[in-house]
Amino acid sequence: MQKTPYLLTPGPLTVSMTTKRAMLQDWGSWDSDFHQIVGRVRKSLVDIIGGQADYDAVLMQGCGSMSVEAAIGSLMPRDGLALIPNNGAYCSRIEKICTYLGRAYISMPFAQDEILSPKKIEKAFIANPNITHLLLVHCETSAGILNPIEQIAQLCQQYKKSLIIDAMSSFAALPTPATLGYDALIAASGKCLEGVPGLGFVLAKKSVLEKSKGNAHSLALDLYDQWEYFNKTNQFRFTPPTHVIAALDSAIGQFEQQGGQPARLKKYQKNCTRLVNGMKKLGFKPFLAKKIQAPIIVTFHAPIDGKYEFRKFYEAVKKHGYILYPGKLTDQESFRVGCMGELGKSGTGGFVRAVERALQDLGITQI
Ligand SMILES: *Cc1c(COP(=O)(O)O)cnc(C)c1O
Repeated sequence: MQKTPYLLTPGPLTVSMTTKRAMLQDWGSWDSDFHQIVGRVRKSLVDIIGGQADYDAVLMQGCGSMSVEAAIGSLMPRDGLALIPNNGAYCSRIEKICTYLGRAYISMPFAQDEILSPKKIEKAFIANPNITHLLLVHCETSAGILNPIEQIAQLCQQYKKSLIIDAMSSFAALPTPATLGYDALIAASGKCLEGVPGLGFVLAKKSVLEKSKGNAHSLALDLYDQWEYFNKTNQFRFTPPTHVIAALDSAIGQFEQQGGQPARLKKYQKNCTRLVNGMKKLGFKPFLAKKIQAPIIVTFHAPIDGKYEFRKFYEAVKKHGYILYPGKLTDQESFRVGCMGELGKSGTGGFVRAVERALQDLGITQI
């Protein structure tokens, strides 16, 4: 097979050969062998949060944002009012989704290098008793910041607010236990579980799903309708991404074998530490303070050298075997490097060497 570059991006990721191989078989979507896979995937996802008693997994075709849209549109009543604390692009996307869906919300802005403040959220709960929902991003992938979901979830329990968490880039690597009491948690196949992209899922309280009939704005994204259908038939209503689901089933099997969430976290923490230390040696500065940095994706300030241009840097690093990701800061030049995926023997060390060579190729000396 031709040597392809490693993906150091927040999804799609470089997946293991075992996961790739799981896609070599064709499955009939109405076949009982495939239904077994679907059942197993649904169950293992709920096992990851320890939620067998109260939660169900509803799988949804498409990118992660489709599942976010399905969760908000289906689980938040049309007359609800959401609070959206916002410290990045994925929080802004949730605001946009609410606007499209006609769900009222209050936006609470934070800086991109500042974690969401439980204190400010509590003040908003007290000032606006009409708030019904809190829509929260766990790891804000735009800068790589880790928001304090434990404290915020506790506030939601205390003030009886429904909590919906976008845990897309944290689920399965950072702890997101059912004991946090959220209504729903959203993630996808192509992030920390290290499957391939194409499937999202919502882990929702059964009691919340039961009450959600008729909320949805969209047939294809109606979580309730799909949930009911799964429970009756273990089938998707509409064509499922069969190969993606078979790959996810395999990826979850490998994840469990390797030690589950704690092991995945350890692997990403190791990648993250080596990455940051190696890049610092080359002169790069991470955008975030260490204690609020999620071990998922790291934003670095772009070099100040006049010869630096993201596109050229990207191509030069790619030539040495690695694909990095553009920055998503609103007001500063930056780039991002993911800590996830199957990075091969040389791991993040190999990436740092590739960056060093790319800098030499481009004659960049001032970092
Ligand atoms: C990746 C991601 C999403 C979903 O992105 P898609 O491009 O729609 O798959 C949503 N929220 C967060 C925090 C993410 O990291």
